[in-house]
Amino acid sequence: MAMNWTEAQINQVVTSVLNQLGHAGDAPKAKTYNATSYEGRAFVGVYSDMKDAIAAAEAGYKAIRSMSVAEREKLITRIREKTREEAAIMAYLGVAETKMGRVDHKTAKHILVADKTPGTEDITSYAKTGDFGLTLVEMAPFGVVGAITPSTNPSETVICNSMGMIAAGNGVVFNPHPGAIATSNYAVDLVNRACYEAGGPKVLVASVEKPTLETADVMYKHPSIRLLVCTGGPGGVKSVLSSGKKAIGAGAGNPPVIVDDTADIEKAGKDIIDGCTFDNNLPCIAEKEVFAFANIADRLMASMKQNGAYQITSEQAEALAKVVLVEKINPKTGIAQKTISRDAVGRDAKVLLAKIGVTVGDDVRCIICETDFNHPFVQEELMMPILPIVRVRDIDEAIDLACKAEGGRRHTAHMHSKNVDHLSRFARAVETTIFVKNAPSYAGIGFGGEGHTTFTIAGPTGEGITSAKSFTRLRRCVMVDNFRII
Ligand code: NAD
Repeated sequence: MAMNWTEAQINQVVTSVLNQLGHAGDAPKAKTYNATSYEGRAFVGVYSDMKDAIAAAEAGYKAIRSMSVAEREKLITRIREKTREEAAIMAYLGVAETKMGRVDHKTAKHILVADKTPGTEDITSYAKTGDFGLTLVEMAPFGVVGAITPSTNPSETVICNSMGMIAAGNGVVFNPHPGAIATSNYAVDLVNRACYEAGGPKVLVASVEKPTLETADVMYKHPSIRLLVCTGGPGGVKSVLSSGKKAIGAGAGNPPVIVDDTADIEKAGKDIIDGCTFDNNLPCIAEKEVFAFANIADRLMASMKQNGAYQITSEQAEALAKVVLVEKINPKTGIAQKTISRDAVGRDAKVLLAKIGVTVGDDVRCIICETDFNHPFVQEELMMPILPIVRVRDIDEAIDLACKAEGGRRHTAHMHSKNVDHLSRFARAVETTIFVKNAPSYAGIGFGGEGHTTFTIAGPTGEGITSAKSFTRLRRCVMVDNFRII
């Protein structure tokens, strides 16, 4: 992969994949799909009862226990191939079902998962020898993993989780987001088809037709589930962490960006818009608010506008805030609070602008506006291509406000600067799992940056950029007085 992917390079890769698949230029065709089938093909591994799904995944886990690592790697290789082959189908399906995101970028996300999710090579062992002999530590599977997945990267997360969890030797049961059930279950079926073709069991990953909080609860309490993994907002993460079982929580973010006056301002403007608009801002790592030094803020916004941003006035920002943030009564407290409108999350910039009577063309991919720090566009994790810009005096104010906007989630932060002291100070202060310097946000998950990819970034529980080894338990084997050969 190239080091720094531009929008043009992403388009090139996506177009070539779509061309291979015969989809280039096609409008998304109406397809028949639901939670259990696609175009009349029944999904493998999808059950009406969560207990049946768990039993099937457990049988799959037992079947792969007798497979060699090389045989298991063949399953992962076939999942990679099938994900590439069917990337565009899942991208279309995801947009059609959730009404969120962009087909071209979702296609690119699936290819990223296929190419850069680690396989069995991630599973290593450790040996210690000494006067008393040999001690060996190995990464063992948990058994059956229960995974909760989001609506924002539905099939990407199912496939990425499956690859890591299977490479580690586990079976998996998913309780996917109800708003993305067909797309998620398509991915479950894909993983099963791939594994079976490569010599695996018929079902290794499983899901349910109708995921609910009740089916999640059955999963949490079932004795066969030894590890829970939640990728999603605070509700789901809290629920797995309260389950009493070992849990990995990959929660919400609100990534701030600082731009100081030593940065390459033209590049910063472009990088920020490229990252912020990737899949219409659905990725949890995407730029959500900018803190710009006052002396370069105008130039930064000019660069953003040259790269597909449309600047709105503060009056228009107020009108937009009323549309994209709605008041809802919190059932627990009875108090009204602002929450993001599901009709706005992941929508195109032009669709959001149309809601306040502004008509623009397809070239507009992001809405920018100057706001103060307390504006809800800064405080809320919007997950849509709206980017507030706050002017700051100096690096002290920038770091202070950016850390407050990040809110202690320890998720992701970005900075554009050539001042090493500024970069180090912000990285130390914000304590995020991912910190990207002088690049679009997606460089942080291996898209135009070094390192493997994941769609499950576990900040709260500390596994970080998860991979196969995150889904293992360590086991020690001790041989006293022997096997030290020196
Ligand atoms: P969401 O929080 O609405 O749903 C995520 C999942 O959690 C769904 O499967 C949902 O059904 C489940 N869930 C929610 N409350 C639950 C509860 N009380 N008990 C059991 N399950 C529950 O999220 P979404 O809108 O689909 O995704 C967006 C959110 O997820 C954002 O906050 C984003 O930052 C976060 N996210 C984080 C990561 C990461 O790797 N850290 C990745 C993707 C998304």
